[in-house]
Amino acid sequence: MKAAIYDGPRTVTVKDVPDARIEHPCDILVKITTTNICGSDLHMYEGRSSFETGRTLGHENLGQVVEVGPAVSKVAVGDWVVMPFNIACGFCKQCERGLTSYCLTMQPKPAMAGAAYGFAEMGPYQGGQAELLRVPYGDFNALRLGEDAAERQLDYVMLADIFPTGYHATEMANVKPGDQTLVYGAGPVGLMAVYSAIIRGAGRVWVADHRRDRLQVAEDLGAIAIDTAEQDVAEVVKDATLGLGADNGCECVGYQAHDPQGQEDASLTLNGLIEAVRFCGDIGVVGVFLPEDPGGAEAQGELEAKGKIPIDFGMMWFKGQRMGTGQAPVKRYNRALRDLIAAGRAEPSFVVSHELGLDQAPEAYEHFDARDEGWIKVALHPDG
Ligand code: NAD
Ligand code: ZN
Repeated sequence: MKAAIYDGPRTVTVKDVPDARIEHPCDILVKITTTNICGSDLHMYEGRSSFETGRTLGHENLGQVVEVGPAVSKVAVGDWVVMPFNIACGFCKQCERGLTSYCLTMQPKPAMAGAAYGFAEMGPYQGGQAELLRVPYGDFNALRLGEDAAERQLDYVMLADIFPTGYHATEMANVKPGDQTLVYGAGPVGLMAVYSAIIRGAGRVWVADHRRDRLQVAEDLGAIAIDTAEQDVAEVVKDATLGLGADNGCECVGYQAHDPQGQEDASLTLNGLIEAVRFCGDIGVVGVFLPEDPGGAEAQGELEAKGKIPIDFGMMWFKGQRMGTGQAPVKRYNRALRDLIAAGRAEPSFVVSHELGLDQAPEAYEHFDARDEGWIKVALHPDG
């Protein structure tokens, strides 16, 4: 089968690899028809991780079931399905609590929790930027879609990651009807947090970034753009709230946060939220703040150092704020969000800027990684 393979830093090649297959009685095999490139893929693409060369990328996957293992009872051949990026067993202590992003069964390293397709440090599983994907525990991990799935793939594929992830940020931030919400980052995840805040009834949503093309998409959704190249985020928010600050905030940038001149500083967005969110407001952090293991003992030290981010905890404590963090447990939200899409009340495909064939993956990664103007979200189709 054809697959988009990681061939070393900033190199993706589309190659023939052995077909994915059923390896366990609970597996299903899915013919992938839409698979997205994600900001998270860039941690691996840029060589910031221990991701092995020769491995297939891709954790945002949708397609049609072509084979099921003998122990699969719910999902059938021909079903349209979308898979959460988290691979989970459904029966471990964490999964039983709904924490599928911290599943203990699928992660072979005892000190770790959580698994994903085509992801460094998150188990040995291949990604779905390929013609076929093996899905472990298919009954648990595949969400079945309705008859409109074939026509609405670009909406439903967002259920694999960024729509539930953006929603998770607003859930941790406790966004309620009428709230005034601040979102840092107008990338695909930030745009989904903005969209989720609006769905939850937020009265006013600000989004901070310095990329005009992305801020424009957020404005089209009804958010107020704060261009960090020209405006001070806390000042804008406080001016609009009699000095009190936003009711809550979402962090959708991660450790690669930088100032408008390009200088990296992982503390910018967290400290920005602590300053701009009101007393006792909640903050949801879905941006990744620990780069994947770059490999080797020396690099491990670098990894640990990178995770140590100077945030103004004293001020956060004084203001009585709470912060939620971590990988999104997609399965907690994907069914409800699917039903919103099916009812015509959510169309997360607005975020897609490019639809390409799998063969065009190398150039798609190049443009997306370069943050070229207008490249916001790329959907790849292995079948065309
Ligand atoms: P992205 O890189 O496309 O978007 C990040 C945006 O942040 C960009 O538009 C960039 O211009 C902006 N930005 C950079 N520095 C900034 C600053 N100081 N202030 C304001 N904006 C700033 O990435 P994405 O795909 O939208 O993902 C965002 C983050 O979410 C990444 O860290 C990704 O790995 C993470 N993520 C987490 C989960 C989860 O489960 N927690 C799931 C998916 C993605
Ligand atoms: Zn993703």
